[in-house]
Order: sequence, then structure tokens, then C-alpha cells
Amino acid sequence: MPVSEFMAHALYHPRHGYYMSGGEHEAGPIGAQGDFVTAPEISQMFGELIGLCLADFWLRAGRPSAIDLIELGPGRGTLMADLLRAAAGVPGFGDALQVHLVEISPALQAVQRQCLEGHAVTWHSELTAAPRRGPLLVVANEFFDALPMRQFMRRPDGGWSERLVGWDAERGALAFTQDPAVSPSAALIDPALRGAPLDEVPAGTIVEQSPMAVSAARDIAERIAEQPMSAALLIDYGYAGRPESWSTGDTLQALRRHRPVSPLAAPGWVDLTAHVDFSSLSQTCRAAGAAVQGPVPQGAFLGALGIAARAERLKANATADQAMSIERAMARLIDAEQMGTLFKVLGAHHRDAPALGGFEVAVP
Ligand code: SAH
Repeated sequence: MPVSEFMAHALYHPRHGYYMSGGEHEAGPIGAQGDFVTAPEISQMFGELIGLCLADFWLRAGRPSAIDLIELGPGRGTLMADLLRAAAGVPGFGDALQVHLVEISPALQAVQRQCLEGHAVTWHSELTAAPRRGPLLVVANEFFDALPMRQFMRRPDGGWSERLVGWDAERGALAFTQDPAVSPSAALIDPALRGAPLDEVPAGTIVEQSPMAVSAARDIAERIAEQPMSAALLIDYGYAGRPESWSTGDTLQALRRHRPVSPLAAPGWVDLTAHVDFSSLSQTCRAAGAAVQGPVPQGAFLGALGIAARAERLKANATADQAMSIERAMARLIDAEQMGTLFKVLGAHHRDAPALGGFEVAVP
């Protein structure tokens, strides 16, 4: 089966899928007791600064009295809880927000319900079910990296065919193979790359395409393009242009208990992700009629939003130990060798809306 189908089964199979069963851990997939840790789980500052960025946009967009806030893939609900606490400090903003969570995992929906107790929240299992009406804010952190993607691999004759996952009967294990036939879908690959000479783009090179990511980005951007007081923040790890791991182009990876493992090792029990192609997301948003900002590195974005000042404020009321962990958490979020560069932020807003804050940074 194509890699995309393998990912879809491994993540979304109704009984055995990673997000459907909740994986192998009592506490769920996310956090110290699970398989991976995300920015909102590292520090409350992450969700707070996102909340203030959106509050600032709302103020400059003319303070619409009702505005939908959709979060895609909210995980444990931590980002939303921190965002709403920060929002409550901006008069009128908290009351204007109507919160919608798009979450496919019943297990994580239950965790979110607990985390957000006392807030009026509506859940949807897919974006298309969320209301499409007035002013809108969208947030997604590490949502796009979880979506299944297709891989095309270059052949020795210069053509491209789909990378597959099959059964290796000799080894008694799953294995990667390549479709013997040239894939007609290779037409999706950027022509400059598709037709490049073999000495520049050799046989074995992999190009990834995520139709699900493109269609989610299109849906968001169309909604934003329809409504003058709307904006979105899409945060994820990935690349603009070519993937960092360009030696092959393969960015499929799996984490189990915070350690990299083979993506084929234990389907349904490991977190499977791929790097997000930000060039494709921003092109998709532009084509749908939204104005695009970035992508900028997460470190620069959080720096521009004032993470250093926020950390100082938190440290002022903290013990020495707590102050050290606030410093460590900030470093993890913004340092170049940690999450600061690999993670990126893409902004999208209605053409006539004010631009989002946080993007006023020089991008290398
Ligand atoms: N944003 C959270 C969680 C990231 S993990 C954080 O930063 O901590 C990915 C999240 O997206 C999980 O909540 C997962 O259940 C959800 N998810 C993955 N694929 C999805 C899909 N196709 N539709 C809706 N939610 C999805």
C-alpha cells in the first residue's frame, strides 16, 4: 500500500489506530509519560503568547463582538487553556470567543474536556463540520505533521513512482518497496524537480506530497478569505523550499517513548509524523485568496511576541528552581539548536485585515 495509506491506517484505524486507541500509554500519547512532547506542554508561555497575538489582531480588526476560534488537533487542550487564560486579560476578547476544537481522537477529546472544564467549547471530528460563518481565528500546532502524506521515489530511468509499504515474507516484517509502475500522480511534483537531470536529483530521491494537508490549508484559507476579520496561525516543524534531510527527501519519522524508532516497527503504537512543506501550505493559502505572512522560525516569532519579558514576569514570582525551569523551557522553545529554527510559523489573514504581530523579523 502507498505510504499515505499505511500512515492513515496506523494513525486512524478505528480500533488500532494510534490516535483512536490512544496508543499504549495510560496517560495518552502526549507528554512525559507518553511518546512526544509539544511546545504547549513545555511551557504555559507558548499558549499565552499565541493568545496575546490573536487578542492583538482582534483589537486591530475592530473588536468583532463574536468571533469563532477553531483549534485543529488540540492534543491535551493545554494550548487552548493557556490561550483562554491570557485572552481573559484583554477586556471583551474572552467573551467574544466561541471555541471549536477539531479533534479526531475520542481519547484526546476526553482529556480536552477535562482540561477545559468551565469553558464553553464545541467539538468536531473534522474541520468541514466546524461552522463557516463570521469572523474567524484558527490555530494549529503540530497538526499538519500528523497528516498522512504520499512519497514518490525517483527511478533509475528518471521517472517517479510511489513508495509503498509491503510485507517482506523472508524477514517476516513490514518493509518499504517501490511501485514497479511510474505513477501518474507524479504530475503533482514540481516540474523543475520532476524533470531535473539524474546527476542533480538521483535515483532514490524522495518527494513528499500531503493531499490532506493541502485540503485542510485550503479550507482554512477559503474561510479566511471570505471574512474580513479573520486570521490563522499554523505552527509546525518543517521546511520551506527543500527538506533539511534532502539527502533522500524522506522525512517520515516515528517516536516511541521519546525515542526515534522505525516507522514500520509497531504501527498503532508509535507517533508517526512527516515534516510539513510550508511552501506548499503558503501557496495553497495564497491561491485560496488569503494574505500570507512567513513562515518565520518559531524562535523569532516568540521573541517578537515578547517571550523574554513574559519569562521575567513569571520568574519574579518563582522559586530559584522554578526560575531555572522557566529559563530552560524558554530555551527549548526558541534556541536554534532546539525548537527555535526547525519549527516555523505561518500566518494567514484576510486581505483587508490587519497583519498578525510576531512576523516582523528578518528571515534568513
Ligand atoms: N496541538 C497539540 C497536539 C499535537 S498532536 C499540541 O501541540 O500539543 C496532533 C493532534 O492532532 C492530536 O490531538 C491528534 O489527535 C490530532 N489529529 C491528528 N490527525 C487529525 C485529523 N485528521 N483530524 C483531527 N485531528 C487530528
